[in-house]
This record gives sequence, structure tokens and C-alpha cells, in this order.
Amino acid sequence: MNSEQIKNSLNISPAIRVGVLGFGGLGQAAAKVVAGKREMILVAAADQKGYAYAADGLNTEESIATYQSQGSVGYLEPVGTLTNQSIQDLIEIAEVDGYFLALPNLPNDFIPTVAKQFIKSGWRGVLVDAIKRTTAVEQLLAMKEELQAAGITYMTGCGATPGLLTAAAALAAQSYAEIHQVEITFGVGIANWEAYRATVREDIGHMPGYTVETARAMTDAQVEALLDKTNGVLTLTNMEHADDVMLEVAGIVGRDRVTVGGVVDTRNPKKPLSTNVKVTGRTFEGKISTHIFTLGDETSMAANVCGPAFGYLKAGRQLHQRGIYGIFTAAEIMPQFVR
Ligand code: NAD
Repeated sequence: MNSEQIKNSLNISPAIRVGVLGFGGLGQAAAKVVAGKREMILVAAADQKGYAYAADGLNTEESIATYQSQGSVGYLEPVGTLTNQSIQDLIEIAEVDGYFLALPNLPNDFIPTVAKQFIKSGWRGVLVDAIKRTTAVEQLLAMKEELQAAGITYMTGCGATPGLLTAAAALAAQSYAEIHQVEITFGVGIANWEAYRATVREDIGHMPGYTVETARAMTDAQVEALLDKTNGVLTLTNMEHADDVMLEVAGIVGRDRVTVGGVVDTRNPKKPLSTNVKVTGRTFEGKISTHIFTLGDETSMAANVCGPAFGYLKAGRQLHQRGIYGIFTAAEIMPQFVR
């Protein structure tokens, strides 16, 4: 018996073949997360200048080292390819069960455009994003029937916020007969902004006087000049964050009752405050109370985004195998723990 037959006879399902689109801060962290899992194997990675694909698995350390020293996984010998249409090329040649889209959502319809590319190609499988803006999630939700018809199970808003914290709010809501308020406050500490350029640019887009477009158009020098003025700290309030539409679509609370804000320190890996979600409601007995779910301060943004993303990829895979396609949010489906 070969190893595949042994696995089958033991009723062990083969590892889920995953790909990571976007190989910046989160994409590389995602590769490291998968490296520690036996139920998943990283077979594909793509960035703006190329991709790497190996059916029997990519070497995580070499992939990251190549990206960091040469700027693209396309340089990875012998499995890399340089191209300016890496996503399209991977869709055509790679056998992948599910992709995590660790891509910048700049402009605000970029990830929806990528989803359309998958639909058009005839590819079938699971897609997971950690997209943040309400308007971006709305664009994806509007594609439900196209995704269904294409045989794609799309899991949206599956990072930390939206994602882990939205799911926690959905769970906390179960104690109440009526939900009054969901308040998400995040603290992010990163050692330098260059490790997460898209995340920082997208956050700047939430500041007063800025939009997604102005943030996208900023040069690196302009981002640095802005960060110099604020001592590296971005304070964000009343953000347009998809946690609101996700909790509304799940039937839990109207979007006007959901607020998201936070503090991002781009010069210190220590969190400036503890990330938490507070869910206030009224119980069936008429008591008003607040559940608070707080993340451990030692957990990084990368841990709290990539862990859930793959948990939802596994859940999406189970739906896909049962013939359930379309689009689901982190507030509707329980993530599955990836061993
Ligand atoms: P980054 O800037 O570090 O990396 C982006 C990567 O995408 C780069 O490798 C780049 O080459 C690649 N890329 C860009 N255009 C591409 C294209 N057309 N084809 C293929 N690859 C392309 O980004 P990041 O800071 O890791 O953030 C990624 C995303 O994660 C952002 O959209 C951010 O908003 C999101 N995010 C979500 C959460 C959450 O909790 N939901 C938290 C943090 C970040």
C-alpha cells in the first residue's frame, strides 16, 4: 500500500491543499501557521510579481526568505514563476482546495474583482478573506448567486475584526433576548509599518480627512511623514467595519448598534490596549448586562487573523464537500479548529 492508500484505509482524509494570495505581512504569517498543521498543506503562494506552486508542498522558510530578499516568491527555485498576473496563472494551473486572500483591498473593490476572476474561470473550491470594510463585504454578499452557481464556497470577513470578534459577538448574543450594543475595540502593536503596508494604508483611510483612495495614493514617504507626526500611533474611531453588516445579516443586531474603533502602534509590537468586544443586551428576565471577550495581549494581529482564516477555510471546505456553495460570514458559521 502506498501512503495515500494507508491514509484511506485508516479513514484519514488527505490534507487540505491551501494557497495564500498576497505574501506580505499576513500572507507570510499565514504560511507559518499552515506549516504547523497536519490537516493542511501550503501548495501555492502569490504576490504582485509572481507565484510559487508545488503540489507536494512549498518550503515555508525558503518561500519567505525568497520574498524578503528578492521581493517575490516568483524567484523561488525551482517552483517559482515571475508574472504580473499571478492569481490568474495559479487559477489555471494549480490544484488547490481553498485560498486565503491575504491581499490588500485597495481599491475597495479589489477583492470582489478577484472573486469575479475565480467565478469566471470555472474554478471550484473555498475562498476566505479577512476583508474589513462594510461596503466591500456588501459587494461580495451581492455576488451570492454567482458564487453559488460557480460552485464556490466563499467565507468573508474571517480575520480578527471582522472575524474572530464578530463571531464572539454572535456567540455572546445567545444569552440575550435583545441586543442593545456591540462595541469592538482593538489594539494592534507592530514593530514597523513596512511589514503590513496594506493594513496600515487601509487604516489611514479611516482617519478624518482621508479616504481609501487618498490612502492608496500615498507614497511610502508620505505614510512615514504622517506616522512621524503621530509618533507612529493611529487612533481610529467609528470605523466603517463590516462587523456591522455581518451581525445584521446574521439577524443579531441592527448595524447602527455596532461600533468599531482601535489604536494601532506601528513602532512597538506591544499592544497599546487589550482588544475586546463588549456585547450588551437584555435577558429574557429583563436584566441588562454586558459580556466582555478580551484577547490575550500576547496574541499578535497575525495570530488573531490567520488562525480564524484557516479555521473558516476548514469549515468552508466541509460545506463545499456537502455541496453547499455561496457566501457566508464569520458571524454565521463556527470556524473549525485545524489540527
Ligand atoms: P501587505 O501590504 O503586507 O501585503 C500585500 C501582499 O499582496 C504583497 O505580497 C503584494 O505583493 C500582494 N499583492 C498586491 N497586489 C497583488 C495582486 N494583484 N496579485 C497578487 N498579489 C498581490 O498586506 P497586509 O498588511 O498583510 O494586509 C493584507 C490584508 O489583510 C489587507 O487587506 C488588510 O486589510 C487585511 N487585514 C485584515 C484584518 C482583519 O482582522 N480582518 C487585520 C489585518 C489585516
